Order: sequence, then C-alpha cells, then structure tokens
Amino acid sequence: EQDPLPPELKINSDPQERKAFSVEVARSPEIQEIRLGLPIVAEEQKIMEAIYNHRVVVIWGATGSGKTTQVPQFLYEAGFGNPSSPNPGMIGITQPRRVAAVSMANRVCDELNSAKEKIAYQIRFDSSVSSKTAIKFMTDGILIREIANDFALLKYSVIIIDEAHERSANTDILIGMVSRIVDLRASMSKEDAQIKPLKLVIMSATLRISDFLENPNLFRSGAPPMVQVEGRQYPVTIHFARKTQRDYVDEAFHKVCRGHKKLPPGGMLVFLTGQNEITTLVKRLKEAFSNTEASQTAGHKVRLTASDAPLETEDLELGIGDSRYDDVGEVDEEEDDIFVEDDQEFDLEDPAPASSKIRVLPLYSQLQTKDQLRVFEPPPENTRLIVLATNVAETSLTIPGIRYVFDTGRGKERKYDRLTGVQSFEVGWISKASASQRAGRAGRTGPGHCYRLYSSAVYERDFEEHAEPEILRMPVEGVVLQLKSMDLQHVVNFPFPTPPDRRSLAQAEKLLSYLGALSPEGKITDVGRELSNYPLSPRFSKMLTIGHQHDCMPYTVALVAALATPSIFIPENQLDLSAPPKPEIYTTADRLADESRTKLKSAYNHAHHLYSRHSSTSDALKLLTALCAYAHAPSKPTFCEQMFLHPKALAEATLLRSQLSSLIHNNNPSLLPNPHQLDLPSPSKTQISALQQFTAAAFIDQIAIHHSLHPNPPDLPRTPKRAIDVPYLPLFPINQTRTSTPDLTEIAVFIHPSSILAHTPIKDLPTYIVYSHLQRAAPSTISTNESETKTPKTRMHALTAVTGKQILGL
Ligand code: ADP
Ligand code: MG
Repeated sequence: EQDPLPPELKINSDPQERKAFSVEVARSPEIQEIRLGLPIVAEEQKIMEAIYNHRVVVIWGATGSGKTTQVPQFLYEAGFGNPSSPNPGMIGITQPRRVAAVSMANRVCDELNSAKEKIAYQIRFDSSVSSKTAIKFMTDGILIREIANDFALLKYSVIIIDEAHERSANTDILIGMVSRIVDLRASMSKEDAQIKPLKLVIMSATLRISDFLENPNLFRSGAPPMVQVEGRQYPVTIHFARKTQRDYVDEAFHKVCRGHKKLPPGGMLVFLTGQNEITTLVKRLKEAFSNTEASQTAGHKVRLTASDAPLETEDLELGIGDSRYDDVGEVDEEEDDIFVEDDQEFDLEDPAPASSKIRVLPLYSQLQTKDQLRVFEPPPENTRLIVLATNVAETSLTIPGIRYVFDTGRGKERKYDRLTGVQSFEVGWISKASASQRAGRAGRTGPGHCYRLYSSAVYERDFEEHAEPEILRMPVEGVVLQLKSMDLQHVVNFPFPTPPDRRSLAQAEKLLSYLGALSPEGKITDVGRELSNYPLSPRFSKMLTIGHQHDCMPYTVALVAALATPSIFIPENQLDLSAPPKPEIYTTADRLADESRTKLKSAYNHAHHLYSRHSSTSDALKLLTALCAYAHAPSKPTFCEQMFLHPKALAEATLLRSQLSSLIHNNNPSLLPNPHQLDLPSPSKTQISALQQFTAAAFIDQIAIHHSLHPNPPDLPRTPKRAIDVPYLPLFPINQTRTSTPDLTEIAVFIHPSSILAHTPIKDLPTYIVYSHLQRAAPSTISTNESETKTPKTRMHALTAVTGKQILGL
C-alpha cells in the first residue's frame, strides 16, 4: 500500500534518473571514505523510503553511527531545502546543546564541501542563517520560540529532533508540538497546494523513547515506524574500582596519570561534572607532566581558573618521564585497585613509548566555541589526546580516536522537589543508561576500556536505570505560559511524551495568576501575552512589564539580563586561594606564592565591595552594578580579569540586555527612548528601592520572613552565631508542605553563604528576604556509604532584602 519512491529519492538509481531537484554534492574522497564506514550510510534507502511514506519516522542508532551528520545530508541530496524541489522548505535539526548545534553544522558543511551559506546554525545570540540556508542546526529552545511566531513552521519541510533519548524538557515539548504541526500541515496542504506537508524525524541513541511511541494522544495515526541502524561498536572492557573515592577529581587525576604511563596509545576521555572540576584537572595534569621551568613555577603561581583564562585553552604538549611523574608512579604501587581487577589490560601489546606526550583539552558548555572544536583536531604524532568533558561528550559529540574512558559516575543534574519546590543543580550519580553510553565512547575506533571510578556495589545500589525526563524535574510555569499563549486552554491535554504531574501544572498556573498572566478561569490575559513575548522565564518578564516605574526601565532591563544569566561572578572557591601543604623548606618561591595569594584575596574582596556600593543587602543590585560597570569598562578582558567576572557570561548578559532593550523599544519607544545606552548614571535611592520592589513582585511566592518576626515564631534549639545560621520561614508557600507538624529544620530556610547577606551582622539582618531558588545539600556531598544521611539545611539563593512596604508595592 506504500507509494513507490520517486526517482529523486532513489539513492542508487542512475544519476540521470535522479531528477533535477536532487542536489549534487562534491564530497572529497577522504570524506567519502569516512562516510562509507558509517553504519547509517547503508540504511540511506530505507530511511528515505520511511520518510517518504510516513509523516513521522524514528531513527534509532548508537552514538557515532552517523545520525546527526548524515541524515540531514540524505535529505539535502534528495532535494529537501532546495527551493525548486517539491520540498522547498529548510531542513531543521534541533539539539539540546549549543555546542552540538554549532559543531555539527560545521562538520556537515565540511563534509558537503558546499557553499557555506547552505548550512547554518542558530543558537541564542548567534546565528549564521541566511535566505540561502537549506540545512539549519539549532537548539531546541530556538525552535520552540519560532513556533510561537510561526505556528505551522512554514519555513521548513522537515524537522529532525535529535538526541531525543536525553529527554530534555524542550525536546519533549517539541515532540508534542511538532507531532501536531505535522497533522496541521497535512490538512493545510490538502486545501492549498502551495503549502507542502511537513515531515518529522525523531532520532535517538537509545530505546529510551519507545515508551511514548505508542501514545495515541501523541501520534494520532499510530506508532511511527522505527528504522534501526546497526551499531559498529567494538567491545569495551569495563573496569570497576574496588573502592569509591569521595574526591573523584583527585581520583581521576591519579588514574589518568597511571593510565597514560601504562596504556598503549589511544585517546582518553574523562567524564566530570562541570567547568570547575575540569579546569582544576587540566591544571594538575599540566603540572604533573611537565619538567619545564615555566610550568614548575606554574604550580605556585596564583591564577584564575576562569573559563577564558589562557591556561586551559592552551594545549599542552608536554613530555613525560620527569621527576613529578615518578611521584605519580609511586602512588600506583600503593593503591592500584582500578587496574588489578583486570591485570590483563597491562599486557596489552605495545605500551606507550616513553617519549609520548599529552594534549589536554577541556570540553564544557561555557567554553568558547572555537576552543570546544579543538577536540576534533587530530593530535600531533606521538601525542596522546586527553579530553576532560562534561556530559556533552556522552552522546552529542563523538571525539575521534578515544580508546579509554574514565567515568567518575557523577553528573550535574537539575533537581526539583515537587513537594517543596526546592530546586537545585546538583552533582549526583548518573543513570546506568548514561554509564553505558559513556563506556561506549571507548569502542568507536577499536576495542576499548572504560575505567569506572566507582565500585560495582555502588553502581548496583545507587544508579537508577534511566534519568527522569527533565520536565519532571523543573518548575513548569514557563512551559504552561508558552502553551497558554498558543491558546491551549487545558494544558493537561497537551501531548507531553511524559506529562508533568497535575500538581506541578496546577502550581504553575497559580504562580502565573499571581503574576497576573492568567485570569481566574485560567485564560491567558493581556499581561500574560506580554510576558510570553520575552525570551525569559515568566518571573523575569514580569519585572520588565512593571519596570518602567520611577524611570527605571534601563535599570530594570540590565537587572533582568544580569539575573537571567548564570555565573557572572567567579566564586571564591574557583580561585586558587588555598595554600598547598606547608613544605619542609620554606623557599622564596613559597613566600612569594603566599603573598600573591593574600593579594589576590584582598583584590577579590575589594572587587566585591565595589559591586555592593548601591546596597549591602541585595545580591540582585550587586549583579546590576557588575553588569553596568562592565559596560563602562574600556577593556572588557582586563576588567573581567581584575574584577573576577566570567567574560563569556558577561558578554551574554550584555547581548541579552541589548536584545531586551530593542524588544521593548520597538514595542513602545516611549518606555525606553534610548535602547542603546548601556552606560547608565547611578540609580537614585528611589530607583534602588523600586528595583527591589520589582524583584519582590516577580518572586512574590519566594519571600522568607525572619523567624523572630514570624506570626508564630518557632522555638530555636540554640542561638545562631552566624548570619547563615539564622532561620527564616517562607512567607507565602505556594507549595503544600508536609501535613504533620514539621520540625524547624524541615521548614526553615537559611541564607546561602555566597549571598551578600551572609556577611551581615546578625542584629542587622532584614525582616524579609526574596530568593531566586532554594537549594538543599552542598553540591560535593554525595554519600558513598549508607552511614551518612544527615538532613542538610535548605539554603536560599538570596536576591534582595525587602521591606513589608516593598512587598505590598507601596
Ligand atoms: P551520531 O549522531 O549517530 O552519534 P555523528 O553523525 O555525530 O553520529 O558522527 C558520525 C561520525 O562522524 C563519528 O564517528 C565522528 O567520529 C565523526 N565526526 C563527527 N563530527 C566530526 C568532526 N567535527 N570532525 C571529525 N569527525 C567528526
Ligand atoms: Mg548525534
């Protein structure tokens, strides 16, 4: 009952037969050879047939089989994206991560050997799209915003949703939305021949998505066909550690050092949880493998480990065999748990030649794109590539030449307690599925080894089968507003692959009605429509809608841009301030190092003192001051370095500030007559107070009151000695707390040590504090044995102190 393929879609037909609109491409012989080795290339015909015959197709194939790079090319060659073909609309491919969107667009461009403008990417604040673009890589968030403006996605002839197994919230929402748009386009094209149908291709590295394919609410015409691509995976030997070390960064360091000395040539990939750990380890490896004068002093030199400091973007090609390396060898003899589980591995044919060098490269999302792409460059001869990466290397990017994976078993995940609304980004154990993906990265080029820095007991006991879909782990007010703005009245009816529970949806509606975005009947209001126009969470959009009072608009815009951008300040613990253990002989170098640490510490304190000049009780205003001072600075890199700011975050906050300014100006010039003015005079006292009030209005449900001023002040077990030990109580809890009478530690919230308020004398602490989110447990405390499960304090990430008047908007 299926249509025969038209000739342009027949892959191996006579080129003459592939009609005019199929595009000819001129790949280089080298690329052609690599492509022919990819398992997916053998399935081209099958994939194109499935796409031709169905509205929705699922492609399932192991990471590295060629899905992301090849499927867009199959479509392109068959005429998709060619204005004179039956499928003139663009080929759109979504990625959960920006790095992947950019690097995959580059790779496809190289492979096609074609005009640059044909293949483009679009991520937040950066786009290479033009009217000539045929293949467009983008983040999933970008496509969601496009749908808000073009509900039928008329610019596209096919949408590929990639990395669907990751179950990012945006990907899940896109699957729901695009499944409907595909049906919509089918009926539109029946009525109007000008409008072409839309195809949806969902690509996944695992079967994680099979649970929702049968969902008739999602795919009305039945489960979509699945094309399976045989993996070309070599065996990977898995080595569990005997013991699970708490300090996994340190452990990774030792294992990589030993591994480099003992293992035959082949790239190494180390999975860590974030930038902080990666930069620390890059530095330690550099020190360990260097015998040059310069790098020996580098061990004592105090410097920043910020994302753009030259340190970790340099590549390190250093010889081994120096004295420091021998020290590492000794550690090996004391404690070689990891390698003894399988002694065989040291009998591998040829050990690395003694002169073997290393090239250490970091890979994480805050890193500048050009530095991220360096992992794809082949290392020089006789040099071992060691990539220290976050989750981004788990499935999105395939780094060539990796034979050894070192898996710490940890990852940073968004966590959200549906009961209390406590939200955090915490380090935790990954899932078994992730661990298996990580191990698989070692088996792309040949048989490989994966060294797990955790024991099989911990793996069995503490690892979940799969990570929970992200949409179940986050507040959903942004999603709800987005859906309501598309006139979807009953959000519970939206075809979510995994629906958030009804309570979360109800809470989100409640918050949206507090913000004035929904009417009592749950319909979107004019305010709600206004909020949904900003590329921000509804709370921040709310600040913009009221932020013109007292001539505050330019300040409000800057404040929102700063608040919405993560990690503007370099936290103190990211500086190299900790002194190494006191050496037996205290040399001049040690003294100088100690002095420079002291200087750095005082420079750091001075910088933070400057940011606080408008208010000593508001972290929000501190951010505002930093962003405005940055705009003022003649040399941005110098300013960032001297003032302990993340350059990439500030550059993004500035872009967001400009984007929001233009949006507001274009909508209503009288609100912001001068959108390009970034350099602002100091705000007046009234304006400062107004800005605090706007913040309170946006976080109206996240205000805590000093325990002694609470209507029913609780008994304190002991008198607090530090500001961070003083209990506050949430004032308007939207979320139901537990029913039984909870004890104080369960309901109280405390100031986070990173807040400006942590330094306030106890007697001066404010009555009310507005917070952006709550966090439980310090990120580094993962229990590795059962004994330690003390309830940690819940901490507020404070935004600002406010008065009762400000809360009421008086
Ligand atoms: P999948 O999406 O199925 O995981 P990809 O299409 O991303 O697979 O990758 C296919 C192959 O292309 C991989 O084996 C990888 O080594 C290679 N590749 C991808 N990007 C690059 C690049 N920038 N440089 C070199 N090789 C690359
Ligand atoms: Mg891929």
